[in-house]
This record gives sequence, C-alpha cells and structure tokens, in this order.
Amino acid sequence: ESAVNRIAAGEVVERPASAVKELVENALDAGATRITVDIADGGKTLIRVTDDGCGIPAAQLPLALTRHATSKIDGSDLLNIHTFGFRGEALPSLGAVGRLTITSRVPGADAAAIKVSGGQVGTVRPAALRSGTVVELRDLFHATPARLKFMRTDRAETQAIADTVKRLAMAEPAVGFTLRDMSGGGEGRVSFRADPESGDLFDALHGRLAQVLGREFAENALRIDATRDGIRLFGYAALPTYSRGAAVSQYLFVNTRPVRDKMLTGALRAAYMDVLSRDRHPAAALFVDCDPMLVDVNVHPAKSEVRFRDPGVARGLIVSALRHALAAAGH
Ligand code: ADP
Ligand code: MG
Repeated sequence: ESAVNRIAAGEVVERPASAVKELVENALDAGATRITVDIADGGKTLIRVTDDGCGIPAAQLPLALTRHATSKIDGSDLLNIHTFGFRGEALPSLGAVGRLTITSRVPGADAAAIKVSGGQVGTVRPAALRSGTVVELRDLFHATPARLKFMRTDRAETQAIADTVKRLAMAEPAVGFTLRDMSGGGEGRVSFRADPESGDLFDALHGRLAQVLGREFAENALRIDATRDGIRLFGYAALPTYSRGAAVSQYLFVNTRPVRDKMLTGALRAAYMDVLSRDRHPAAALFVDCDPMLVDVNVHPAKSEVRFRDPGVARGLIVSALRHALAAAGH
C-alpha cells in the first residue's frame, strides 16, 4: 500500500466513528432493514457491521476493495447523488488502515469472504452466512502509529460512535439499529437499540425520535413541515418549555444525510430569539429535502459537510417555518 493511498485513506477514515459511518451507509445503500454495529475498545480493536441487505456476489468481492470502484454511480454524474456512497473509497481505505474481512451472501448463492490487511487483498474463500453482509474491521490504524496517537480514549470514541449511529438511525426510521459494545468479550452489552418504525413519515420519525432523543423530547416537539422554492423542510423542534440549558441536541439532515452545519445553530437561535433566553438551546431534528443539484456533498471525503448553493434560502426556510410553528402553538 503506497503512502499516498494511506494518506487518502486517513482522510476518509479519521477515527472509528467515521469507519462506522461508512459501513452503516453501505448497509443502508444495500437496502438493509436491520443493522447491527458491534464495537470493542472504542472501535479501536473491533468494528463489525452486520446487515440483511442485498449482499455482494462472490465474484465482486475483490472489486468492492478496489479504489474508485463503486456499483452506485457511473462516474459521469457526481453531482446528482442519491445513495450515500459514490466514491468507492470506503472499503479500500478501511483495508489500508486495518484488518478487514468482508463476508457476504446474495440470494441463491453460497456465502463468500475476503480479507485485506495493510492493503494486501487475499483470495475469495467460501464462508458461512445466512444472508446479507458482515464487514469486520479489526485493529484500526495498527499500521499507522501516527493515527493511533490521535485517537481519543475508548470512552470518547465509543461516545462518537454512538452519536454517529443515532444520527443515522434518526435519518432512517424504517431501519432497525442495534449498537453493541463487545469490550471484554462475552455477549456484549446493547448500548442503543431502535426497532424499525412503521407508519407515515411523521409517525415513523416521531417514534424514532422518542427512542433516540427520548420520550420527553417527542412529547414536547412541534411538527414542522414547510416547502419553499423547491426545498422541503420537515421534522420536529422542541417547544421552548422543553429546551435544555447547556446540552445541545440539534440535528440536521440534508437528503437523509446527517450533516453538521453551523447554519442550523444560527437558524434555530434566530427562530427562538423571542421565546428562549440566549443561554438555552432548542432541541430539533430537521430534514431538508431538495434537488441534489442544490447542495454540494463533495466538500469533505467524510461527507458530513454539505454546502448549499444558496445557504440563505435554507436558513430562511428554517427560521420562518419554526417561527410559524411556535406562533401557532402560542409562543
Ligand atoms: P461506495 O459506497 O462509494 O460505492 P465502498 O468502498 O463503500 O464504495 O463500497 C464499495 C462497493 O462495495 C459498493 O459500491 C457496493 O457495491 C459494495 N458494498 C459495500 N458494502 C456493502 C454492503 N454492506 N452490502 C452490499 N454491498 C456492499
Ligand atoms: Mg460506501
């Protein structure tokens, strides 16, 4: 594995949580309805993502580990992206920075597995698996001590993984998620679990938010649904009476992609300006759906940043929709 590839890999996979994000997104792209994430020691020694998705044909396993090979895009259409993945970088990167094993089975065929370590790809071998895919990453950054040094405590990395899984779970209420900590061996300890939600968009989201952000949030949240200039905003935002002090729980999703964007903090602050003191933070989970051409998700390889072509439109929509909902609820 060349140094260049390792550096590129380090950009895609900054820490255990970014590996978890890539693997869960792959499972979602594969149409999984249940996803289990097992970790040990903050993800440093083990990250294993099990899904019941479409699987990878045995003959395609080596290809899945080839840089810039993706089954999701033909390469001519990088701006019009509907799936999470599109770069064909995650699996090769993970194979460069850890010991990776992919086991998979497509309906009607036998299961097969492939191993990669330090970028060295092994041969495809028969394996045992009922369906779907299991991707196991052991000893992340074992070959890149410089990266290892930058990892935080097991506790902090575990927290970051839980946060990542919860964000993805909010974005996909119909999919069941389990996060298990296997540190110390044995059966492991389930630290987060959300069963698949059914019902319409708002019912499913409300149920999922109750599981992720807590029943108290769900019971004190205003339903938001507004469309302007081809951009739809929907989700839930807390009543001022619920909103917390120091703890910020503000989540933004753009085309179901969890994103971090300071714009949200500013828009929420502006919307709640007259009903909440400045030291308190309104909780909210808001989804922006728009034409993929209106956002640029290529800002960073880890893909948690987006750039709106016109940030003012999204911000204006959030502020006015929230103010409207607050006023309608008597605030
Ligand atoms: P990308 O997601 O950008 O296509 P990845 O390196 O993450 O690139 O994955 C490479 C390919 O491996 C994917 O395009 C997909 O075909 C296949 N793949 C990866 N994970 C899974 C999974 N859990 N289930 C089915 N196919 C998968
Ligand atoms: Mg991917």
